[in-house]
Amino acid sequence: MGLLDKLGKTPLLLDGAIGTMLMDAGHASTRSPILLNLEQPDFVAGIHRQYFEAGADVVIANTFGGNPLKLAAEGLETQMEVLNRNGVELTQSVCPAGRFVAGDMGPCGKMLKPLGDVTPEELRENFHRQANVLIDAGADLIAIETMYSLDEALAALNAVRDAGEIQTLVSITFNQNPKGYFTMMGENVARCSAVLEDAGVDIIGANCTLNSRDMVDLTADLRASTAKPIAIQPNAGQPVVRNGVTCYEQQPAEFAADVRKIVDAGADIVGGCCGTTPEFIQAVKAEIAELNK
Ligand SMILES: [Zn+2]
Repeated sequence: MGLLDKLGKTPLLLDGAIGTMLMDAGHASTRSPILLNLEQPDFVAGIHRQYFEAGADVVIANTFGGNPLKLAAEGLETQMEVLNRNGVELTQSVCPAGRFVAGDMGPCGKMLKPLGDVTPEELRENFHRQANVLIDAGADLIAIETMYSLDEALAALNAVRDAGEIQTLVSITFNQNPKGYFTMMGENVARCSAVLEDAGVDIIGANCTLNSRDMVDLTADLRASTAKPIAIQPNAGQPVVRNGVTCYEQQPAEFAADVRKIVDAGADIVGGCCGTTPEFIQAVKAEIAELNK
């Protein structure tokens, strides 16, 4: 049974952030978190386990930074396969029956021509290499996340669909201005939905940058733009430094109350992005457990 078969009356739950958990545990943020799949697999699996225990139906593997172009920039290109494969397998090792493991694909870290030096073919080829490993490792779906550029999201989606039969979630990162919600490249919600639907996406999402409050109206816009299932993962507000420690503005209860409004606005799948922890996911679970859509 695939994730899409489970989408029905009650909203499904994604996990929260990994980066926030690493920072809390004192891991330096200068190193790529994907290295921990090799160096501290038990630690990574422990984070995933906490999210499953908090009630997540889908946990996203620690492969966000696993694009070959991004790894090459850090001198890690020779470990592309093992880092991505371990990421999926670690998540599978703690996944209860009936729940799901998503392989994660984040931005490649470079801009497409003419703004940058990457060609569309290179982009697609590199996403394809990562997708092959994630699919071969047995991921239940692929989450393409935190996409600031619709062109890059589309290249990733096409690459995954070429690589094999697997369900796809594409989450775009929007900013808000007085005219509405736009990607960094200026694409609006309707345009993103139309392009992704044309390319055969299964689930359309929004994640990162905006907090839970600001994602309520974004959800309504997204709902109006597509009949596909929608996934929403807000940040827990903005990062603030308190007593020398970076934390996020929002608390779990406030976040969960907003997520209920996000579900009311039409989201089918909800979770958290930067600043969220298993406590947030647990609070959301309690808030939406009784909810029928
Ligand atoms: Zn984020």
